[in-house]
Amino acid sequence: MTSRLNRLAVAFLATALATVGVTVANPAPASAAMTICYNTSQAGSYASVANQSASIWNNATSNLTLSANCGSNLRIYRITGGGSYAVRTSLGNGRVYIDTQQAAQYSVLRIMTHEIGHILGLPDNYNGNCAILMSGGSAGTGCTNPYPSTAEANRVTSLFAGTFSATDRNANVFRDSWPSVVAPVS
Ligand SMILES: [Zn+2]
Repeated sequence: MTSRLNRLAVAFLATALATVGVTVANPAPASAAMTICYNTSQAGSYASVANQSASIWNNATSNLTLSANCGSNLRIYRITGGGSYAVRTSLGNGRVYIDTQQAAQYSVLRIMTHEIGHILGLPDNYNGNCAILMSGGSAGTGCTNPYPSTAEANRVTSLFAGTFSATDRNANVFRDSWPSVVAPVS
């Protein structure tokens, strides 16, 4: 009985320490099998969109988990004007800003998943292909695909598996803007 209680205590302590470790991990680069805690306290009505994007990334990758409001590796903001963008301070850490004006033109879920893609290490690829998540606004307002391609998802999985060098993973402070809003034809 005592032994079992001890084992339970050890398991609980390990879980508690792991939770604390994740919470204080920012701004250290995320490591393999990382939990990325995203914070939607500033996301307003886009909090549920952030949750959908997190599920998409969790389903598409194999060694990272985006988890809501367990910390603030990633902060999500709802803004108006200025464009949507991501600021990546290191792999798995940073801030995402979603512009309500762009969200009124483009799929907000695609914007959200794209910008989170930058936090996960992906660059832009404005080739106009709707099947490519990181083509962003270049695929036009009619493109609502919110899913990364297999290649994009595999790239993120590789980054978080640590198969790229520390330099590659760390030297990626990044800022991106979704293409500016196209003026409607009147
Ligand atoms: Zn982008």
